[in-house]
Amino acid sequence: MLADSFGRRFYYLRLSVTEVCNFSCTYCLPNGYSGPKPSAFMRRDELRRVMQVFAAEGTRKIRLTGGEPSLRADLPDIIADARQTQGIETIALTTNGYRLAESIADWQQAGLSQLNVSIDSLDPAQFKAITGHDRLRAILQGVDDSLALGLPVKINAVYMRGMNDQLGQFLAWLKTTPVTLRFIEVMEVGAQPDFYHNHHVPLSNMKQQLLLEGWQPIVRGKDAGPAQEFWHPDYAGRIGLIMPYSRDFCTTCNRLRVTAQGKLHLCLFGETGYDLRPWLQEDAQQDELTAVIQEALGHKPATHGLHEHNTGLIRDLSMIGG
Ligand code: SAM
Ligand code: SF4
Repeated sequence: MLADSFGRRFYYLRLSVTEVCNFSCTYCLPNGYSGPKPSAFMRRDELRRVMQVFAAEGTRKIRLTGGEPSLRADLPDIIADARQTQGIETIALTTNGYRLAESIADWQQAGLSQLNVSIDSLDPAQFKAITGHDRLRAILQGVDDSLALGLPVKINAVYMRGMNDQLGQFLAWLKTTPVTLRFIEVMEVGAQPDFYHNHHVPLSNMKQQLLLEGWQPIVRGKDAGPAQEFWHPDYAGRIGLIMPYSRDFCTTCNRLRVTAQGKLHLCLFGETGYDLRPWLQEDAQQDELTAVIQEALGHKPATHGLHEHNTGLIRDLSMIGG
């Protein structure tokens, strides 16, 4: 099992398959994507080797992310490779939902076991203003299709002052929709510090409101990640709160990240990306690759530096997948 010097164990890998994205979310890529071409990102065989080496070291869950992972034509093959990787029990995908309705059956058939869809507003005009796309209806259809197929679905909503901070619209939907809706605090990123200053809302107030309205905390398992989750007897859905600025957020860290360019990041906001690519070219390099990852883990910091506005290497989260 991969572990660090603070006793945290990492059974969960977030693997980015591309940095390319077709959306222009205000908090992420407000001017759209203008980064490297798809040829800069790991090939399918390199991704397969990343999954194999992490699985051999105890990783049990892989999340495919991006950029927008569904823009890769070989995404079903990548999911199938994850399914065939010995030791991997859970294969999750984070998507903006653009191709969800047309693709979810194929992804599930390939082996997908969990789905996260980003939906920042349930109001079509607000959704378009945030993402640049008038796609809310189609994405909600994709969510319904995914639920009908029996997939557990989580919805990610970045909660932003003056943009979508109307809890009521989300609560009404959760009455009858059996998803876990996770509100995420805006995180400061290098490309646009002003966005954070203008729109960040601490979710601690929402937590108090939910508790007053009868939402009950779900006791978290030992290896649960940093989201705090709540249920309510009158609602089909659950709520999760992701509060990266809260005290102790990093103590429950259970994940490592590999970018689409093959760099291992020990923290979302870390200062270093450890290049794994030289060791991803042949299956025979697995022992060397393991040694590189083990050595890097010794440098994992106790906590991120966001409180000091130290946002690390990452310009925006499309570079690493959130
Ligand atoms: N394109 C996919 C999507 O949007 O779901 C996957 C990649 S996206 C970078 C992963 C998650 O990061 C999304 O839920 C997005 O809302 C979140 N995210 C991006 N930038 C963020 C920021 N500055 N603060 C908080 N969350 C952010
Ligand atoms: Fe694209 Fe996801 Fe970033 Fe939105 S949050 S611009 S969908 S990578």
